[in-house]
Amino acid sequence: MVCPCRSFWSGSNLIFLVIALITAFLAYWQFHRGSGAQAAAAPSKVIFAFLGAPGSGKGTLAKLCVDQLGFKQLSTGDLCRDNISKGTELGKKLQEYTSKGALVPDEIISSMVHEWLSENTRDEKTIILDGFPRTAGQAALLLDLIKNHFPQYTLRILALNISDDAVVERIAGRLMCSSKECGAIYNTKQFVEGIDNPLCKRCSSPLIKREDDREEVVRERLKVYAQTSKALTDFFKNAGIKIEEINVEGKESDQVFDAFKKMI
Ligand code: ADP
Ligand code: ZN
Repeated sequence: MVCPCRSFWSGSNLIFLVIALITAFLAYWQFHRGSGAQAAAAPSKVIFAFLGAPGSGKGTLAKLCVDQLGFKQLSTGDLCRDNISKGTELGKKLQEYTSKGALVPDEIISSMVHEWLSENTRDEKTIILDGFPRTAGQAALLLDLIKNHFPQYTLRILALNISDDAVVERIAGRLMCSSKECGAIYNTKQFVEGIDNPLCKRCSSPLIKREDDREEVVRERLKVYAQTSKALTDFFKNAGIKIEEINVEGKESDQVFDAFKKMI
């Protein structure tokens, strides 16, 4: 009697099995080669998120990057002020929070960021998020947003470190260009009283003091920052995202910009 297993391994069955094994191997190899190629082509563009206390110089550094490196900047604070000055329904809602130095709810600010990114990610430019995310909730929403809608971007986090006292001193003298398109930031120290005209050096518009740069509102903003920033940095650490840092205490904006250029 012929063993049934021997008859199974003979002839066409054996050939069929060999072909099936080769096909399976080729499919497996193709799959891995494919996903490898995808990983290499994956995120090639960068979104920087600047973290730092109010007055740490996020906006000033972002503007230098826009002017000199061709980056794009989204300042969520500017976006809020822009909506407020237009008097839109959204603007009215935003003002309830910003005038007190409180944070705008995560969902509102995140959907504004989503909308802005949808309109500003059609080119190759590096993006700076200046003032977003500010809470762990916003950070989680940002990661989801990138993963689901902007997977061509890699997120890099930069923290600008400074003490509260230095912030209060800086903001007390902060002036801002009144032109919304420009928005350059200055300090009263840059102008000699009675001699220099406090006009914008870029666009000659008058300089103004921000509504929320009054000392009591600044102190409230610093309090809010202290309450939320620890949770924010913990969130990134837990997500395995490195936080790059620049110590900005006592540094002029061009020194901070030099440190940033070395880093990127
Ligand atoms: P600063 O960082 O100096 O406080 P900003 O111009 O970045 O100033 O923000 C001004 C105000 O706009 C904040 O106090 C807050 O009310 C609102 N705002 C800006 N960004 C956010 C954000 N990511 N989440 C919540 N509120 C925000
Ligand atoms: Zn200006």
